[in-house]
Parts: sequence; C-alpha cells; structure tokens
Amino acid sequence: MAKRCRVCNGAAQIKRPKTGDIMCKECFYYAFEEEIHHTVLAGKLFTAGETVAIGASGGKDSTVLAHVMTVLNERHNYGLNLILLSVDEGITGYRDDSLETVKINQQEYGLPLKIVSYQELYGWTMDSIVQQIGLKNNCTYCGVFRRQALDRGAMLLKVDKIVTGHNADDIAETVIMNVLRGDIARLRRCTAVTTGTDGALPRCKPFKYTYEKDIVMYAFHKNLTYFSTECIYSPNAYRGFARAYIKDLERIQPSAIIDIIHSGESLCVKKDVRMPVQSTCSRCGYISSNELCKACVMLEGLNKGRPRLGIGKTHKERRLFNEELARQAAEAAATNCDETTTTTTTTTTFTNGKVCCGGKGACGSMGGSGQAPEMCGSNLQSKSESDCVGSVSPSGGGGVAECANSLKKVRIGVPTAKPNLLEF
Ligand code: SF4
Ligand code: ZN
Repeated sequence: MAKRCRVCNGAAQIKRPKTGDIMCKECFYYAFEEEIHHTVLAGKLFTAGETVAIGASGGKDSTVLAHVMTVLNERHNYGLNLILLSVDEGITGYRDDSLETVKINQQEYGLPLKIVSYQELYGWTMDSIVQQIGLKNNCTYCGVFRRQALDRGAMLLKVDKIVTGHNADDIAETVIMNVLRGDIARLRRCTAVTTGTDGALPRCKPFKYTYEKDIVMYAFHKNLTYFSTECIYSPNAYRGFARAYIKDLERIQPSAIIDIIHSGESLCVKKDVRMPVQSTCSRCGYISSNELCKACVMLEGLNKGRPRLGIGKTHKERRLFNEELARQAAEAAATNCDETTTTTTTTTTFTNGKVCCGGKGACGSMGGSGQAPEMCGSNLQSKSESDCVGSVSPSGGGGVAECANSLKKVRIGVPTAKPNLLEF
C-alpha cells in the first residue's frame, strides 16, 4: 500500500531525516520553513525595518538560508531589508566558482550582493597565505580573517544584523570542540542563537535547530542552485574529528545532535572561573581580549615572515612579539609622540611597509579625527574563532578600521582608495 503523508494524507514522497516522518514534498517544505520561523520568533531575532546581511558562500546552508529568509520575510511580513554578503578568501578553483553561484542566487532572489575580499582587506589571499604557512593551521587564519571580513562588509553596508547558515550539526560540533579544547568562554556562547550583541554586530543563526540532512533534502528537492565542492585547503582536522565522533554517536543515539546543543545551552560557568576581559584592539579597534586582536597578530606574523606568531597561546614567537610591543609602547610614551598634537596629515610607515595617515595603530599617533585610538584605512587587517565548518558554510572576525568610521564599540576600516566596495 502506498504510504501517505502524515500531514495531508496525500502520497508520501519523503522520509524526513530529523523526525523520520513520512511526508509529501509540499508538507516537508512547509514544516521545514515554519520550524525556522519558530526559531526566529522564539529567539526574537529580528525587528521590522531592520537591514539584515545574509552571509552567503554559495554552499547549501547559505543558499537555503537566503531562500528561506526570502520566503519567511514575505510570508510572515518580517519587514526586513535583506542583502547577500559574501567573503572572497582568494582560493582559486574554489571560492571563485562558489561566488559565481552566489551571483546566480542574487538574480534568483532579487537581492543586492556585496563581496568583500581578503586581498582588499588584508593584502593577502588564502592562496598566498597557504604558500607561506603551508596546509597546517590555514583554517585558523581563514576563520579569523573571515569573521572580521563579514563584520567589515556588514558595517560597510550599515546593516543591523548578520545571519549565517550555521546549522544544528555545526553547533553540536562546536560544543564538542570547545569542550575538548577547554575553551570555556566560547563554550558559554557557542549555543546562543544570537551572538555579538556586545561586540561588532549581532549575528543570528536561524538554523540553530535545523539538521544538515534536512537542509540537504530541502535544497535538493527544491532544486536550489548551490555549490557543493570541498575547499581545496580543507583539512580542518579538528572539526572533522568532532563531526565523525557525532556521526558515530548518532548511530547509537539519533537525538545526539540536539542533545549536545541542549547540554551546551544548560551549562553554566562557575563564578570563580576567569573569563577573558573584552576590550578593543589597540591597533585596529576591533573587539579583542588582548592588546592586539588575533587578526592583527596574524597579519603581523605574515607581513614579517613569522607566521607562527598567530598560532598557539604560548609560543616563543608570541612572547617575543609581546615584548616588542611593550618596548614600542614604552618608547612612544617616552617621546609622548608629538604627532598627537598635529592634525591629519602626519604620515607614518607601518611595519609592513604600508603607510598610515595617523591612526593610533602601529604608528602610535592619534587618528586624524583626534578621537579614540583607531587606525587609518590604508592597511586593513583584522580577529576570531575558526568557525568555518568545512567548505560549505559561511562563517567566520574583527579588524582594522578607517579613521573616524565607527560603529558601536568597534571601528571598522574601509580602504578609502576603493570606493567601489560600496557598489553592489
Ligand atoms: Fe578557509 Fe574553510 Fe577552506 Fe579552511 S576549509 S581554508 S576555513 S574556506
Ligand atoms: Zn586588531
């Protein structure tokens, strides 16, 4: 006897991975979309009138996110102004192709598209970074830079929020990774449906409870245009092991993913556990718990041919770098830097050879605006957690800023020589 859809009693065509329900396609689509709507409502993710950037990589998660956000915005009158925002890491044969998919999505959904690139922001592509550092730790660089690149792109567009396609599988993996690393600060926040409310820009995850298998099924049956090739630099071994571990668990306990997320949500940190104190990077103004944000340290390492600077916590390179920073700060304090009393025309050469017009960054002088420490936009640099979930999800940072371009606590920079960045 033909199986019937458990919702409409029509002919069933699908067995839903998340619930095992037998359904027709139309009922599956509706149930899938409405569950995401429920997450949006329960998490109070949006307010009517907001401009929301959808992190778009061309992969299945972000493509389905763009599609579903468009559908729900219309169906439930969210009143959102949606924009696609992509990051070009500069990975030949991978990201260039996937961005072509995003451009097709742009046409399909009639949404504006903005692309920011590592080359423009940092002066490095992932191809050139891998050439220097090899295939170990490349995803750490990429994740840190991507996070900041997304924030910078979003600030250029003056959006209110960013939404990313991180799904339930990704979040469960992140919980396990943070447990294994003992990273309590990230463990505490990684299950939040909205993060970054006290930082650069709020980031929301409407797919927090959505299973990857459901997303694949939705994209496949809806015939959505997405890019499914793996990143050519994707060893990302640590996440890979976490993923394999959860897949093993799922075989014994099918609810493993959601159980791990619920465990992460319920964890509470003892009062006496020391947490990083949030501050801003003295070089670029991005949110950071250290003197310099992770991206600025990484860029310093790349620009000086000392790539290990940005990796690990206690490496000798980092210690030497911190001593160098302290020495520079002491020297600047001793001379009391006459530039602080001048106006915007002071020109300073950075350690990487680029020239700053006077932000209180590497040069130690006061920005042209004469306000708080900030760095001019001649050399955009960046911060983050490596939250790329392989080759398909947008993820993601914080960095160097243009003089006097501030948003909340963070100043995000825009190279003034590239006004076309604002065109999309
Ligand atoms: Fe970057 Fe992701 Fe590729 Fe790693 S797998 S290099 S984080 S795009
Ligand atoms: Zn910085």
